[in-house]
Order: sequence, then structure tokens, then C-alpha cells
Amino acid sequence: MPRIGVFALQGDVREHLAALTSLGADAFPVRRPTELAQCDGLVLPGGESTTMIKLAATFDLLEPLRERVRDGMAAFGTCAGMILLADRLLDAAEGQQTIGGIDMTVRRNAFGRQVDSFEGALDVVGVAGPVPGVFIRAPWAEEVGPGVEVLAEARGHAVAVRQGPLLATAFHPEVDGDGRLHRLFLDGLATA
Ligand code: GLN
Repeated sequence: MPRIGVFALQGDVREHLAALTSLGADAFPVRRPTELAQCDGLVLPGGESTTMIKLAATFDLLEPLRERVRDGMAAFGTCAGMILLADRLLDAAEGQQTIGGIDMTVRRNAFGRQVDSFEGALDVVGVAGPVPGVFIRAPWAEEVGPGVEVLAEARGHAVAVRQGPLLATAFHPEVDGDGRLHRLFLDGLATA
């Protein structure tokens, strides 16, 4: 049973724990380095990326997170979590840092005010049939490096990407009970 931590200093932690548990993972919240050390993989939830990164630094998790990702730990970031996994940001808050790991430039709040939040069915590489996409003040990946695979697009922009053991979606697969993106993440761990 894979041990999957969910970064739990801020964000929609409960929904991710529920999705992972229902798929048979041993899922638990991560708030300190000792908990991070137990993880085979980590989920970075939706929430507010500026708050999440500040709290990570305050709770001495930022460097351990960077280290684990550098060492090849699997991670799945959703929405704010996608922002945290980006090597580069556009429309970042002043001085906003990331954990990094995925060679991409992510624009925060990219879909703009008019369509602040929306839902739409998405085709995702590796998932059979359309996936419900719930976008809430979502980012997109504006540019991706050659090692990054774009798994889904919405309105012409990359909203699901994968680079090795790192997976990120601009939408929130934890809120709709679909489970297939979490499955994709867990399947990736099994074959790693
Ligand atoms: N706009 C948020 C941020 O920049 C992300 C929104 C979300 O996770 N739903 O962190």
C-alpha cells in the first residue's frame, strides 16, 4: 500500500485524503519533516499558493520538500499545488517562491476574472473518457520544457502536465469524486 502524504498546512487537504484512501492508499497529512520522510509520494492540494509556500518555510518544510522532489519523490500538485511544482511563475506575488521540479512556467490566476471559476469536460492523456475539470482561480502552464508532457488542455492552454514522477493539474480532481487522476498518480508510483 503506497504511503501518500498530503501537504496539510493549508488547502483542501480533506478531499485529497478521502480520494486517496478510497483508492486504497495509506494517506496521511504532512505538516512536519518527520511526516514528509514517511512518504512514498506527496499531494500538494489546491488552496492559496502564496500562503502555502510561506507556511512551508515557517514550518521548516520548504528545503526538505525541495530535497525530496530533487531526489525523485513522486508528487501530484493540483491548482495551487501546480503552482508550487513550477520552476518558474508569471503573475506571482512579490518574492513568491516555489518548490519547483517541473520545467514549466505557470501563470497564476490565468483564466482571468470573467471566467474566474468554471467547469468543463477534459480529455486527459492516459485516462479513458472525459474527466470533469473544476477550475477555481486556476493557473495554466504557459510554457513547458522538452521533458514535460502536456496531458490536457483547456481553452488552448496546458492544464495537466507530467514530468517523470511529477504530475500537476490546474483543476481540482479531488472535488468531484471521479478518482481517475489520483489513480493515474498512484499507477505512476507503482511503475516507478
Ligand atoms: N489562485 C490560487 C493561487 O494562486 C490557486 C487557486 C486554487 O488552488 N484553487 O494559489
